[in-house]
Amino acid sequence: MAATGSGLPGPTPLDRGKVEGGTVTLPNWRGEADRPSPPPPAPLPPGERVGFALAGLGRLTLEELLPAFAECKTARPVALVSGSPEKAKVVAAQHGIKESSVYSYDDFDRIADNPEVQVVYVVLPNGLHRDFVIRAAKAGKHVMCEKPMANSSQEARDMIAACKQAGVRLMVAYRCQYEPYNREVIQRVRSGDMGAARIIEATNTQVMGPGDQWRFRKALAGGGALPDIGLYCLNTARAITGEEPVEVFARIFNPQGDDRYREVEETIAFMLRFPSGTMANCSSSYGAHESKDLRVRLEKGWIDLENAFAYEGQQMRVAQRGGKAEVIDTVRMPQQNQFSLEIDHMAACVKENRVPRTPGEEGLQDHHLMEALYRSAETGTPVSLAPVSGRDTTRGPEPSQQG
Ligand code: NAD
Repeated sequence: MAATGSGLPGPTPLDRGKVEGGTVTLPNWRGEADRPSPPPPAPLPPGERVGFALAGLGRLTLEELLPAFAECKTARPVALVSGSPEKAKVVAAQHGIKESSVYSYDDFDRIADNPEVQVVYVVLPNGLHRDFVIRAAKAGKHVMCEKPMANSSQEARDMIAACKQAGVRLMVAYRCQYEPYNREVIQRVRSGDMGAARIIEATNTQVMGPGDQWRFRKALAGGGALPDIGLYCLNTARAITGEEPVEVFARIFNPQGDDRYREVEETIAFMLRFPSGTMANCSSSYGAHESKDLRVRLEKGWIDLENAFAYEGQQMRVAQRGGKAEVIDTVRMPQQNQFSLEIDHMAACVKENRVPRTPGEEGLQDHHLMEALYRSAETGTPVSLAPVSGRDTTRGPEPSQQG
């Protein structure tokens, strides 16, 4: 053992760890019976990370995304786009972003001349996504776009075409497809170990405040609870099965006399029928206390993911027969920031010139389906859809553990 000069014994190889392949590794210090701790994060040096510009400094950017960059390994924020110079100045200073890399909505196109920016992340109201994605693509930047991708399937198609023409990558920020518990549910269902999935139940509800916000204006939001939060139920049911629905049915309820629901819906319940026979019962509301849960009922058990669509607090239970008993296991996984994971995934795709797991086509398909759901709600009848053969037809390859 090497001495430290303090008279005390020096660190052992187990204490010190070592550098291997350019990263620090620390041997497992726990006993066999306990889970090993995950390896220390190995972020790239800041200068080698992919530079992101954040367009829109609202709640998602300030409360979740900018903090999440601190846990990113491959991405860093290098520019801001905002309609409020006062706000942008404060935020830029907080995150070490140069004043010269702050853009207004009007002079945003100048971002083409900023080589530090490789990706523009559009975090504006939904009705602005199309124009900003197209402007970012024309500026030669890869684009990450918040969900819902747009206000309509036509807008989504325009965005895909613009990115294709400019030769840039487009990813829709479906964070749940990068969140470890949601991924675990997908993997367990798809492994087939629990038999076929018969029924998926997905709920996403929350209670909305005052009416003077963009989420109640159809031109800015595209719709109400469905595109904003019900979309997670729809997208997750598709991601679990890997299939596309062949029939959908929906009902909408709006409380009478509530002016907030003149243009967009408050509550929607909908059903999706998949070709293999799996059916999904989904519900979403702007007027029911926060609940964001998922349950899959399979031939040989069920998987319950409480807070499936929340930012944190996922709780997973799996029920199966164990001899003469019903065994209900709780699954605990290491805590990881789902926003950091999805941002790092986009950065890795840019670095390695790969298609993201959730490209524009994934967002477009959800718009097709939401349009079918609105048609069903309007007519009061189920809507049939052309069968799509194959699995994951709108998705890129599975993200690796690293990104
Ligand atoms: P927000 O209302 O907090 O912020 C919107 C920002 O856009 C504000 O800074 C506002 O000033 C700016 N803006 C520019 N033009 C505007 C206009 N014409 N009307 C209104 N605001 C305008 O919204 P948010 O919650 O940050 O949502 C932004 C986007 O992110 C939306 O697409 C939303 O669906 C998405 N989102 C995703 C998640 C998620 O979990 N992935 C969560 C919340 C929001």
